[in-house]
Amino acid sequence: MTVNQFIRKLLHLKELSVVGFHLDARKHGALELFVKPYKNGCLCPHCRRRCPIVQTRQDVRMWRDPPIYGRPVTLWYQPREIRCPTHGRVQEEIPWADRFAKVTYRFEYLLLVLCQLMTQKAAARVLHLATSTLSGLLHRAISRLRAGHRIENLEQIGVDEISYCKGHKYATVVYDIARSCVVWVGKGKGRETIDGFFNHALTQEQRESIRWATCDMSQAYIGAIEHHCPNVTVVLDRFHIAKALNEAVDEVRKEEWRKARGDERKALKGLRWLLYKHYSNRSKEERATLEALRKGNRRIHRAWILKDEFEQFWDYKAPWAAKRYLKRWMTTALKSRLESIRGFVQTVKEQMHRILPYITSRLTNAIGEGLNRIIKIVKNRASGFRNLEAFSDLIYLTVGDLDLPDQIPAQFRTL
Ligand SMILES: [Zn+2]
Repeated sequence: MTVNQFIRKLLHLKELSVVGFHLDARKHGALELFVKPYKNGCLCPHCRRRCPIVQTRQDVRMWRDPPIYGRPVTLWYQPREIRCPTHGRVQEEIPWADRFAKVTYRFEYLLLVLCQLMTQKAAARVLHLATSTLSGLLHRAISRLRAGHRIENLEQIGVDEISYCKGHKYATVVYDIARSCVVWVGKGKGRETIDGFFNHALTQEQRESIRWATCDMSQAYIGAIEHHCPNVTVVLDRFHIAKALNEAVDEVRKEEWRKARGDERKALKGLRWLLYKHYSNRSKEERATLEALRKGNRRIHRAWILKDEFEQFWDYKAPWAAKRYLKRWMTTALKSRLESIRGFVQTVKEQMHRILPYITSRLTNAIGEGLNRIIKIVKNRASGFRNLEAFSDLIYLTVGDLDLPDQIPAQFRTL
């Protein structure tokens, strides 16, 4: 084995041969390798035909390669300009990197995998890069790998909003519920944003093939989904509905609190969280406290009973029975003379056709909420993002519908 062969084997550099090397003492002993394509030189990057060289000078280019033994590694080469009968004068194909990239494929692979696992700051340290350089490289790699990517087989979608940049700015995230991944991220949380998704990311055929959608009660999202997808059934997320009911119950508690004096107030203390609890999670003592309200405060007691009864709706299996139950519940609730509960009943009445499908579909935004939690971890790890590009890069990298590291040519996917 010659030294050159040994170096190529050691560095996994099948695509190139080393014609010289240099250890730069000024740059932490950086290893600089002067290379050329191994055997496959002078190929047209478009049709991979071998072409004659055009005798013009081009600049020497350099590419970052993964560090070895703690040393940064750079490859140097002066690409040749060739003339392809079909594609004219072009720069020859570089077998180890994308045409315009400043790093090799396997550096990109390492970059993507590390950024899935750790903070960009940590990844930058491992790769001997400045953090700002790293996020620039990451953005370029992700944009290139996602370019031309089409969303596939989308039948169940979830739509949710998420804040970035310390809660002042919002993005809309669209999930593929069946595959539990993010297919799209857009700036803002209004109708315009979600319209952008349907108009630009999907074809007419794709919009028609969406059968189910789940979201909160935001009119912007519901309106857009039903406008763009002719075959969709929107199922309002049951946890968002439960939240709205909880708020209505809490409104009753607050009113009573305002009216109560002295000892009466004492009896109402600590009720807030107790009322929020699902009936199946209450302890014996908590139940007793609530029972005591029957004599203590009739209005809060009534609100609590109505809430518990509403919760039972979700357990129904037969749509007709569920519908009958819900209608009866609404009639009782309307008679309650509790203003906030009557407001909730009004919402249920309007949204009935988006609440009932839950019984057959059992669709919730739990997948979306789960992905949202991961996104929040990523966000906190980066301590916020200055712009949406950096944020969506990381969403696509960690929970996106396209496995980004997998897009790098197979022979370079080594760690
Ligand atoms: Zn060509």
